[in-house]
Order: sequence, then structure tokens, then C-alpha cells
Amino acid sequence: MSDTIFGKIISKEMPADIIYEDEHCMAFRDVNPQAPVHFLVVPLKPIARLQDISTGDEAVIGHVHTVITALADQEGIADAYRVVVNSGAAAGQSVFHLHFHVFGGRRMSWPPG
Ligand code: AMP
Repeated sequence: MSDTIFGKIISKEMPADIIYEDEHCMAFRDVNPQAPVHFLVVPLKPIARLQDISTGDEAVIGHVHTVITALADQEGIADAYRVVVNSGAAAGQSVFHLHFHVFGGRRMSWPPG
């Protein structure tokens, strides 16, 4: 569980600005926010990349999305927000513990870089 920064946050070895936690996932604010609201929703299970989810993970991945919608309400961004998963280094992933970025509070451009 402690092999990445996010494993250490989950195990409370490292501090973070935690905004939600339950038995399946945790959410905390990104330390380097790219929007007025930017938090990460992280399954507790140490899945490295989105590409590494497997049969049996459907429930937790679905649950993460219900948590995202609840937190979007809580954070006041429910009208417009973006969810991003970088899967793999070339896609921009730097922490190899699956996490869902949630951005809001500003206009988003498309396509992403
Ligand atoms: P990614 O590049 O998709 O793997 O995203 C990793 C994200 O984790 C980046 O947006 C970082 O700013 C963020 N991050 C790294 N360390 C921490 C930390 N200790 N607490 C909160 N967010 C972090």
C-alpha cells in the first residue's frame, strides 16, 4: 500500500488535504492545482494504471464515480467539471496509483494537450 505517494497518503504516513474517505476510496486536493477546484479520487486498492483494472474492480470504479458526483456537488462545481485519468507515463501519469483528477471552477478548453 505504501509504494507510492498516494499509498502513503492512504495509510496516513503522509499528510494531505483529505476531503472524503470511505472503505473503497479517498479524495484529497491536488498539491499543484490546475484549476480553482482540483481534487483527486483514489481507489484504496493499489491499482497502478487504469489499464491495470481487472474483473472484480468494476464495483470500486463505479463507486468512485458516484463519489465524484457527490464531491462535485459539495465543491460547488456540479454544473461543469472535467474528470481526467492519465494512464501511462506518455499520457502524463506521474504517480502509479490509479487516480481520477476532477477539475472545476474555470472554463475548460478542448482538445487537451
Ligand atoms: P498524474 O500526473 O496524472 O499521475 O497526477 C499526479 C498528481 O498528483 C499531480 O497533479 C500532482 O500535482 C499530484 N500530487 C503529487 N503529490 C501529491 C501530494 N503529496 N498530495 C496531493 N497531490 C499530489
